[in-house]
Amino acid sequence: MDVSAQRKPKKKAAPAAPQTELAKLREDFVKATNDYKASLEKLVAIYEENVKKAEDKVALSKKLLAEGLIAKTQVEESERALDAEKQKVAETRRQMTNADSQIAGVLVETAADDEISKNRRLAKQRLIRTAAFTRYTGSGGWNLSDAWKIQRFFSDTFNKQLPIAVFGQGAIHDRWRLDHHNAMDIQLHPDGVEGRALLNFLQKNGIPYSAFREAIPGTATGPHIHIGRPSHRY
Ligand SMILES: [Zn+2]
Repeated sequence: MDVSAQRKPKKKAAPAAPQTELAKLREDFVKATNDYKASLEKLVAIYEENVKKAEDKVALSKKLLAEGLIAKTQVEESERALDAEKQKVAETRRQMTNADSQIAGVLVETAADDEISKNRRLAKQRLIRTAAFTRYTGSGGWNLSDAWKIQRFFSDTFNKQLPIAVFGQGAIHDRWRLDHHNAMDIQLHPDGVEGRALLNFLQKNGIPYSAFREAIPGTATGPHIHIGRPSHRY
C-alpha cells in the first residue's frame, strides 16, 4: 500500500472513500483502459484495411475514367469514401491517445452518480457541493447544439479554444452503457481560473453541469467539467 499517496483529512468534508474502494477504482481504471485501448487497436486495424480497399477503388475508378467507362463524379465519390475511411482511422487514433482521461472521466462521473442516488436529500438540491464534485441542475433547456455559445465565451475570454475532451456520445460511453448524447466533457480543473470562469458562465446562463475535482488514485486524470445533465446508465 502506498501510504504517502493519502491526502491529509479535511475538516467537514464528505468522508473519503475507504482505501479498498480507491484501490478497486484504480484497478478498474487500469483494466478498463487496457481493454479499451486493445479494442481501439482492433478497430484501427479494421479501419486501415478499409482505407486500403478504398484506395484500390479510387485507383480502379481513375483507370475506368481514363478509359471513358465511368463519369468523373464516380471518381469523386470514391475519393470521398476514401476520405471518410481515413477520418475514421484518425479519430480512433485520437481516442487512443486520450483513452486514459476518457476512462477516468467515466469513472468519476459514475461514482458521483452512485453517491447521489444513495442520498435522496442530495438528489433534490439544485446545486450540490461535495468534496469531490459540484453539480448544478440548471434551468430551462440545454442542447448540445448550443455548445458554440460556450466555445465563443471561452475563446473571447481566454483567447484560446475550449479544451473539449469528449463531445456527445463516444465509443467509451457505448461500452459502459452511459447516455452521454447531450453532454460534453471539458478538460479543465473546476478550481482553476479558467474552470471557475466557465462554471460562472454556465450558472449565469442556467446551463446544467457537473464539475469533478477527483483524480483517479495514482494518476493525474479525472478532474473535468461535464456540461449537460448527468449521464445515466441505460
Ligand atoms: Zn461527461
